[in-house]
Amino acid sequence: MYIVQIASECAPVIKAGGLGDVVYGLSRELEIRGNTVEIILPMYDCMRYDHIWGLHEAYRDLWVPWDGDRVHCSVFCGWVHGRVCFFIRPHSGDNFFDRGQYYGALDDHMRFAFFSKAALEFLLVSNKRPDIIHCHDWQTGLVPVMLYEMYKWHGMGTQRVCYTIHNFKHQGIAGANVLNATGLNNESYYFQYDRLLDNFNPLAINYMKGGIVYSNFVNTVSPHHAWEARYSDISCGLGHTLELHHHKFGGVLNGIDYEVWNPEGDRYIPHHFSYDNFAEKANNKKALRERLLLGDSDKPLVCFIGRLDDQKGVHLVHHAMYYTLSRGGQFVLLGSPTESGIGSWFWHEKNHLNNNPDCHLELGFNEELAHLIYAAADMIVVPSNYEPCGLTQTIGLRYGTVPIVRGVGGLVNTIFDRDYDENHLPEERNGFVFYQSDRHALESAMDRAFGLWYESPQEFRELAIQGMKYDYSWNHPGEKYLGIYDYIRHR
Ligand code: ADP
Repeated sequence: MYIVQIASECAPVIKAGGLGDVVYGLSRELEIRGNTVEIILPMYDCMRYDHIWGLHEAYRDLWVPWDGDRVHCSVFCGWVHGRVCFFIRPHSGDNFFDRGQYYGALDDHMRFAFFSKAALEFLLVSNKRPDIIHCHDWQTGLVPVMLYEMYKWHGMGTQRVCYTIHNFKHQGIAGANVLNATGLNNESYYFQYDRLLDNFNPLAINYMKGGIVYSNFVNTVSPHHAWEARYSDISCGLGHTLELHHHKFGGVLNGIDYEVWNPEGDRYIPHHFSYDNFAEKANNKKALRERLLLGDSDKPLVCFIGRLDDQKGVHLVHHAMYYTLSRGGQFVLLGSPTESGIGSWFWHEKNHLNNNPDCHLELGFNEELAHLIYAAADMIVVPSNYEPCGLTQTIGLRYGTVPIVRGVGGLVNTIFDRDYDENHLPEERNGFVFYQSDRHALESAMDRAFGLWYESPQEFRELAIQGMKYDYSWNHPGEKYLGIYDYIRHR
């Protein structure tokens, strides 16, 4: 099968969170299974060019119809750790992808509408006719809309679209000007409830809704979150749209790339280990303590890695930090704030705890350090308000770092409480789970984890090793996506 992924991220060259991991890891798995995969991405000025090999101009004159005119673009091609990626670079005064950041500009809705249009135009003029176009999140929600309403008439009538929603919180809300810019025009046609009209704002269109309505299959990134999306308010107003389209909606659990996240060969950690030589993990703990100038003593090390966003339960992350210190443990936080208010709060905490030998806060994005922290820590906290899938808990498992998670979304599908999970045998359990989003619930789960670490270290170690034996690679999800592709190709 020939599959083209159109996305706003692909790790490690462009990564703000889990979306980048998924685009890379899934593409690799699909290729291992004998498919041809190409990835189309924006050419951001701030991406990690050091992770691209053989970057060259593959298509010089791509003219993208835009806003009643045409925008001149170049398309560059290069290999990102073996994956073929095409990068779209517009030459226009808008400088859509030269903003020093991936997201967060006031005209994001225009930037990604343009990217979606340019990606389709590139496929059209370069005569690429994939069997499947796989799009991700709101940024590419207009791809299936434009494919069905425009490009189908220009020789792209057999392409099928799988649309994956990684986060319902950001949906791409815009006014009629986007319709004019993309050439969809016809306001009265698209401002219909069964097309792009936002379910709550009569003056806006919604890209993600367009993605749901026009794709051949839609999924979110875990079975439990798919259920939550239909039956709770977590889908931020799209519940009814999902209900109408339930026959083509499901949940596929994300995998993690077992080559990238591999304690036996990880190039970012000084001491490799597996469950057979688990003792080596302790040397990574020592290395991390040296690097972050933390005290070297017999204490449990708890970590948090993730975006510092309301989604991630930042108040509970903050509480976990102080609770760990009060229980005689050490805490390392690696987080990228997504809002200035959260940023200043955690910068304040960082300054306040600067001289504390048991705590380190690293604010910003640091892929290399993340690997070392996963390898070094004893426990990882994931107290999310909601979590479509979550990767940090499964990466934690892979590195023998016991997850303490809130039972929501994909965390329910991946972490099974050591003491209370009734659906799994004791030897299948792999972490600690709490449910209420409050301090007491978090503390009770942390108490159980600390209790085991302090009082039964051998059992704690067995729990960590049990977690390492889980297979959360792309193996099963890869098979599931191929099943979906096959299904929509032959319908
Ligand atoms: P998200 O909601 O951000 O997609 P996930 O748990 O699905 O959360 O994926 C997060 C991914 O991003 C993981 O690979 C994690 O290691 C990485 N990550 C998140 N924040 C940071 C950071 N500040 N520095 C390095 N890696 C990070």
